[in-house]
Amino acid sequence: MPLVNSKELFEKAYKGGYAIGAFNCNNMEIVQAITEAAKECNSPVILQVSAGARKYAKPVYLKKMVEAAVEDTGLPIVLHLDHGADFEICKDCIDGGFTSVMIDASSKPFEENIAITRKVVEYAHAHKPYVTVEAELGTLAGIEDDVKVEHGSESYTKPEQVEEFVRRTGVDSLAIAIGTSHGAYKFKPEQCTRDPKTGVLCPPPLRFDILEEVSKRLPGFPIVLHGSSSVNQEYVKIINDNGGALVDAVGVPEDQLRQASTMAVCKINIDSDLRLAMTAGIREHMKAHPDHFDPRQYVGDGRKYVKDIVKHKIVDVLGSNDKI
Ligand SMILES: [Zn+2]
Repeated sequence: MPLVNSKELFEKAYKGGYAIGAFNCNNMEIVQAITEAAKECNSPVILQVSAGARKYAKPVYLKKMVEAAVEDTGLPIVLHLDHGADFEICKDCIDGGFTSVMIDASSKPFEENIAITRKVVEYAHAHKPYVTVEAELGTLAGIEDDVKVEHGSESYTKPEQVEEFVRRTGVDSLAIAIGTSHGAYKFKPEQCTRDPKTGVLCPPPLRFDILEEVSKRLPGFPIVLHGSSSVNQEYVKIINDNGGALVDAVGVPEDQLRQASTMAVCKINIDSDLRLAMTAGIREHMKAHPDHFDPRQYVGDGRKYVKDIVKHKIVDVLGSNDKI
């Protein structure tokens, strides 16, 4: 099976009440960990590439690695551009064989966001085969590669804008801001309460009222959540027990993402959790074996931890297992 776009996957996910994981990748071990996990769970999967990943690994390497994963697993895999900043990067990816792109003009005024998104949609939909397009309304706080929004400058999606935006752009899916956030420090301590027993921060709940209002206005239309790592504390603990210093790293609780998956949300972006798992595996290995210097040994342990967490997400958060 060749790479696929997200259209049919989202239709099935919407009807089936689950979401598809969109995991960021930038090296071979991460691609292998994600796709082997998906294979063992019999789950469709989206591999997404940011502008930072393109700079780090070069687009051609990423494309060929993802094609290798398709050949190796036989899974329906989407190769998606995450946070395309302008028409040019989207065009470059579409021309280069990506099956899905995100144009993120969410920081621009509404009319400008519509105009840029419309231009990308026209190009992507005219392409053979059809390339799906994701856009965004509202802005998330946090840091993700080149995308940076200060806490306090984020804004929730306005439900009253979504119908006009989707109608005028022709976009295939829409990322909305309901309180998720990019990075491993999603919320400032003062936005959270602190568990008195463990000292772990407990973030403010997602705005499910906005999600419900959006999905009422766009029946059957796939919604996307960015910034949806949960910063699983067992990995933070492994990192910190083995020489790391991640203080007050906090994510979106998994039970809230589970709930969103059963609603109109068809794609959930997870990046930081994979980074944390990779780092935990490497740090643990390095501390236990200070004499090792073969990267296959410690990166291999990182890969194993990434695979573990992807399987956990597919089964316990997204619900996309056994959906092929
Ligand atoms: Zn994002």
